Amino acid sequence: MIRINEHYTKLKASYLFADIARRVNAFVASHPDKPIIRLGIGDVTEPLPPVCISALHAATDEMADRATFKGYGPEQGYAFLREAIAQHDFQALGAKIAADEVFVSDGSKCDVANIQEIFAHDLRLAIPDPVYPVYIDTNVMAGRTGASTDGRYSGIVYLDSNAANGYVPAPPAAAVDLIYLCFPNNPTGAVATRAQLEAWVAYAKQHGALILFDAAYEAYIRTPGIPRSIYEIEGARDVAIEFRSYSKLAGFTGLRCAYTVVPKNLKARDSSGNEHSVHALWNRRHTTKFNGVSYPVQKAAASVYTPEGRAQAHALTEFYLGNAKLIRDAMGKLNFPCIGGDNAPYIWINTGRDSWEFFDLLLNQAQVVCTPGAGFGKCGEGHVRISAFNSRANVETALARIAATLR
Ligand SMILES: *Cc1c(COP(=O)(O)O)cnc(C)c1O
Repeated sequence: MIRINEHYTKLKASYLFADIARRVNAFVASHPDKPIIRLGIGDVTEPLPPVCISALHAATDEMADRATFKGYGPEQGYAFLREAIAQHDFQALGAKIAADEVFVSDGSKCDVANIQEIFAHDLRLAIPDPVYPVYIDTNVMAGRTGASTDGRYSGIVYLDSNAANGYVPAPPAAAVDLIYLCFPNNPTGAVATRAQLEAWVAYAKQHGALILFDAAYEAYIRTPGIPRSIYEIEGARDVAIEFRSYSKLAGFTGLRCAYTVVPKNLKARDSSGNEHSVHALWNRRHTTKFNGVSYPVQKAAASVYTPEGRAQAHALTEFYLGNAKLIRDAMGKLNFPCIGGDNAPYIWINTGRDSWEFFDLLLNQAQVVCTPGAGFGKCGEGHVRISAFNSRANVETALARIAATLR
């Protein structure tokens, strides 16, 4: 008889975004005359940069001609894109990353989800709280945790991110093997300083641990001196994998392109103590289970590195950061302590009350949808996330309604 992977039954029954949708739909059904504004979703709203559209059109025309048609490309990505990534995203920062250490994919969600399968089953995990749920759920599915009690799975070292530590957790006292970090952070919008990342790299070296560094929001960093890549930290090439995506950088959430950097000198041991190349393992996994990102999409991603592309992508992130500043200023004026919004498209608001209660208040009184912090983990209780991904007009209207409700 066909049987299931029972680890799936440990996954928490409550799905944050389904729960939000249910409450929003109920409100809309009973108040069809009151338009709502969604500041809850982690998806971009503005169209692709014009350079990307031109690149897509040109590449599509190449596919129409026998002489320039492309079939399967290299699973790891075309050299033109891998070289542009290595040069502009790393070498320009002084980080020594080579093109053949870059694996192009159709999304960071899949990469961050899939990477754990090349590591041992009985690893000690450290995962932030609040968190992008993919890090936890994929390890639950793989059987690396016990059951969930009181909102926490046994077998995970949770890295609490709260007001006391400025929402940037320090390395734990306990020894762990695999560490998930995300800066600028989703959901909090917090960024890690060079000194804070140096402490994590030193910890990983000391314990022979590996850091999985999710830099999906790197393009939003504006404060000088905040590292854009973990590889700006001395020694990180020996202990870290980095994930980047074009989703929030250039509006590719619907087009799909991302990449993972696995340095060639990164090593992990088997149970007999023999060293293995993590790059070789990931290459094996990627080429076995993935057949490459489409040629037009890789051309669109590469266009982001042209001078016009850089300017257009920068204008997009500037636009969202402009929304973020309005949100943060407005919530600050209402005396809510906030972080994020200056180097990230998310503002993390300390509501001083139950996060679902605050969600319901904004929905029912202001017709504004935010994301209750409790959905991102225990430490998210008492907070909500407001997203800057929307039109300026919607943000301004939403903030006026919120001010009228909470004043
Ligand atoms: C949006 C996001 C990503 C990127 O996901 P894609 O699959 O590349 O669209 C990765 N990590 C975090 C934390 C995100 O919020």
